[in-house]
Amino acid sequence: MGLVDSGRSPKPLTALLNISRKYSLWVYQWGLACCAIEMGAAFASPRFDVMRLGVIPFPASPRQADLVVISGTVTDKMAPAIRRLYEQMPDPKYVISMGSCANCGGPYWDSYSVTKGVDQIIPVDVYVPGCPPRPEALLEGIVLLQERIRNEDPAERWKGEPIHVGGGEPARAV
Ligand code: SF4
Repeated sequence: MGLVDSGRSPKPLTALLNISRKYSLWVYQWGLACCAIEMGAAFASPRFDVMRLGVIPFPASPRQADLVVISGTVTDKMAPAIRRLYEQMPDPKYVISMGSCANCGGPYWDSYSVTKGVDQIIPVDVYVPGCPPRPEALLEGIVLLQERIRNEDPAERWKGEPIHVGGGEPARAV
């Protein structure tokens, strides 16, 4: 991505690249609790037909994914695995946090074992509220993310400077 890396990509090329990225999102699903049922409905049922949005829901591994949806209750024991999953994804990568538990701990916010939001571990691009959110809410979150991708500067996105997320270790910039 030489031109993109250097920030010298001409504007029409940038626009074309962003539209291409927006409509070819390979999404990895990380279901941890009840919200995963709604995520499964959004991604696997013909009723919602997520592929019409340019979303491909079945990459074989995180190394082929552009986007990960974290849905359900994040526990401190699961946190290192989520962090590792995120680090295995190639840049540029995006994260959607689905449901109250992933957003902030939800009904288990005061549990000794529950992480108070996945953004304590990895950077989050879009938060989808609800307990659980309906599949339509997840689809709206994806559309919001696509709008962000359409307007972003790829050179900034590819820069990948380390940042600190919440109280955790440094992560790659988004
Ligand atoms: S937000 Fe509600 S529905 Fe989703 S995982 Fe937590 S308790 Fe379950």
